[in-house]
Amino acid sequence: MTGINRRNLFMAAGAAAAAPLAAAAAPPAISAAGVKAEGQPVIGNPDIPMEPGKRTRWAVVGLGTFALGQVIPGILASDKCTISAFVSGNPQKAKELGAHYGVTKFYDYNTFDSIANDKEIDCVYIVLPVGLHAEYTIRALKAGKHVLCEKPMASTVAECEAMIAAAKAANRQLGVAYRVHFEPNNVDVARRVRAGEIGTLRYLTGDAGFNANLNWPPHVWRLQKGLGGGGSMYDIGIYALNGVLMCTDEEPVSVSAVYSYPKDDARFKEVEGGVDWRMTFPSGVSAQGSSSYCYFGGNRQKIFGSEGSIIMDPANTYYEQRVSIQKPGSGIMELHAGNPYTQFAAQVDGFAEAARTNTPHRTPGEMGLRDIRLIQAMYRSADAGGANVKV
Ligand code: NDP
Repeated sequence: MTGINRRNLFMAAGAAAAAPLAAAAAPPAISAAGVKAEGQPVIGNPDIPMEPGKRTRWAVVGLGTFALGQVIPGILASDKCTISAFVSGNPQKAKELGAHYGVTKFYDYNTFDSIANDKEIDCVYIVLPVGLHAEYTIRALKAGKHVLCEKPMASTVAECEAMIAAAKAANRQLGVAYRVHFEPNNVDVARRVRAGEIGTLRYLTGDAGFNANLNWPPHVWRLQKGLGGGGSMYDIGIYALNGVLMCTDEEPVSVSAVYSYPKDDARFKEVEGGVDWRMTFPSGVSAQGSSSYCYFGGNRQKIFGSEGSIIMDPANTYYEQRVSIQKPGSGIMELHAGNPYTQFAAQVDGFAEAARTNTPHRTPGEMGLRDIRLIQAMYRSADAGGANVKV
């Protein structure tokens, strides 16, 4: 990696904190959850080859692990997009990364609103902690930009609704970055299930989790209610929830859930460490699953129909998916529908196309709102000891 040294960047982060940008305007408002955007040291590996192009121009907001590892390389590997600006609270890190990737425009959280005057930014990708999604999405929409916001959409239903209203008022696209809707294996499975290839859909499961590390900064904010919004269900369980819903045209009519984690675990003072959930659909189909910050390697979905079943294991990792389909009399078929890495590039290309042509996006704000509503209903059920909650 030329020009960038991780140790220098960590040191630069400290210096940056001591000497804020001279051009800084009034500090940004503190969000409803009482949290504010602050620059962080570099974590992750920015040294991934990329290919510049002249395409839909993005500003990436928040240069953290997912931005460096997946979002930036994804945009730069896409067919239709490029990056024209970085938005970061750590100016030194932003400059070093800019030199590495050929990005020359920089904003921080104070100067962010001035992107309104920047005609070289078409779309904004929000890669901040969840508690900051609503504030920065709304500010970007007010600046006249289209916004793709990372999952989960926001901390509360009210925040999601405000984001959707802001997109309507600005007449701009708002998408939630559910990457698996652009991952070829997941897309192919959903198509097969909806086309009736495993007969009538009966039952689905989805498990998603990892073991949270209280000493790793990207996990630390996930364990704080203000920045994380919620716990394991918000951060990781949402993949299984959304993945299950991708395979059916129905919306759930009721949910139930119980919390599932050691209550004396020091990590879970503010957010839940695990949830076991269940959803029922109007047709009688049911789905169940789990999310956890306490188990390793949970990334599985299973789909059962009257004429076959599908196992996805792993279901939605960054770079590898494995899908097998079993039908009576025809054994087990392994599916290799395409390179899972393409999801990051395909997602931004899909959003850019929707923004350019003003056509519906595959994962709109309404989908993000639906999922936050469902998770909130699961929390209500778990708070009531697992009671059935109508949605
Ligand atoms: P990180 O902690 O690694 O990065 C977050 C970045 O946000 C920081 O580096 C910092 O960037 C900026 N930031 C601004 N204010 C704060 C603050 N108060 N505390 C911490 N960071 C702050 O998190 P991730 O990259 O893991 O997650 C970012 C987003 O991406 C989340 O919404 C997460 O849910 C989502 N995500 C999605 C995944 C997917 O598969 N779709 C996978 C992983 C994450 P800077 O220093 O530049 O200001």
